[in-house]
Amino acid sequence: MFLDLAHLALRTGERYERSYAIDLVPIVLGGVRYEVLLPEGVTVKVERVAGGFLVKAGAHARVYGPCARCLKETVLDLHAEQQEFAPTAKDGWEESELSAFIEGLVVDVAGIAREAVVLSLPSQIVCSADCLGLCPQCGKDLNEGPCGCLPAGSDERWGILKDLRLTDESEQPGGGSEGVDDDSR
Ligand SMILES: [Zn+2]
Ligand SMILES: [Zn+2]
Repeated sequence: MFLDLAHLALRTGERYERSYAIDLVPIVLGGVRYEVLLPEGVTVKVERVAGGFLVKAGAHARVYGPCARCLKETVLDLHAEQQEFAPTAKDGWEESELSAFIEGLVVDVAGIAREAVVLSLPSQIVCSADCLGLCPQCGKDLNEGPCGCLPAGSDERWGILKDLRLTDESEQPGGGSEGVDDDSR
């Protein structure tokens, strides 16, 4: 979906607003594929300002993908918003300062919407904030109840207890040596 700003014939201070129905291709993050639906489409607001156009794209996005902890299919609702500037004259602008989604004065609406969704995704998509995830040893979903495995952390604690017990035992011969000391007196 492309929007040609030149065709809007806006004068400075004038605005344009329209919603577009957009199908986004799935977003792949860290090898994980997320389907994205924009149930209300993308709302594009264009404002003619001195030197160019301010282009704002906003969308309610519904993201479908696996929970990062338990892998269960999860739905995440978020609001995505992105603002770009398109100068009418490119003189004095570095290529890196120009929007990657506006070529000349033609706006790639789907491109901006996709970028907006990617940027508003949390670092980890989880089914719930207190999801317990899968047991790293047997793979059981710990949200459904505990498995028989000892948590990896408690192995160390048992090790420390074992060491303490060994120390206790080694003190008994030490007590005997005290007796030896007593004998020497
Ligand atoms: Zn989960
Ligand atoms: Zn387990």
